[in-house]
Amino acid sequence: MNPKILVSACLLGERVRYDGSAKPFESDLLRKWQQEGWVVPLCPEVAAGFAIPRPPAEIEAEFGGGDVLFGAARVFENSGRDVTESFLQAARIAVSTATTKGCGYALLTDGSPACGSSFVYAGRYDGARKFGQGVVAAALREIGVAVYAQSEITHLAARLSMDAVR
Ligand code: SF4
Repeated sequence: MNPKILVSACLLGERVRYDGSAKPFESDLLRKWQQEGWVVPLCPEVAAGFAIPRPPAEIEAEFGGGDVLFGAARVFENSGRDVTESFLQAARIAVSTATTKGCGYALLTDGSPACGSSFVYAGRYDGARKFGQGVVAAALREIGVAVYAQSEITHLAARLSMDAVR
């Protein structure tokens, strides 16, 4: 059976980011996977009801997406509005989509408080970063989805090749 890859919609050119922009990711591999029908696009934030545009949100300093998932940390917009519940809803939608569509893999936009998988912003709204993952990436990893950032697409390709011969 063909693999299915959950992909952040903004990487595919959809203008769904907080500032109304996309984050198009030019990649022959991604194009090939789209042509093969392996790609399942999703913007978890928009699916959870966030508007476009919307204020930027960050996970509390010193915490990561896994902490939010398990109730130990919160997510705030730069105005101070608590949007934790909406981020948890985004995570639930991503888990449900991955399960329903059979996605064993995900290629997600790094840095996002939802989709980030190797870093997120530090919770001070000043552009500083910290190692860690977003709420959606953490939830997908909890159910065993292999999550990769766009910078790791060749690693994902290698994983797909290895899994294909198992
Ligand atoms: Fe892109 Fe994910 Fe943010 Fe949606 S939630 S804009 S898909 S990084």
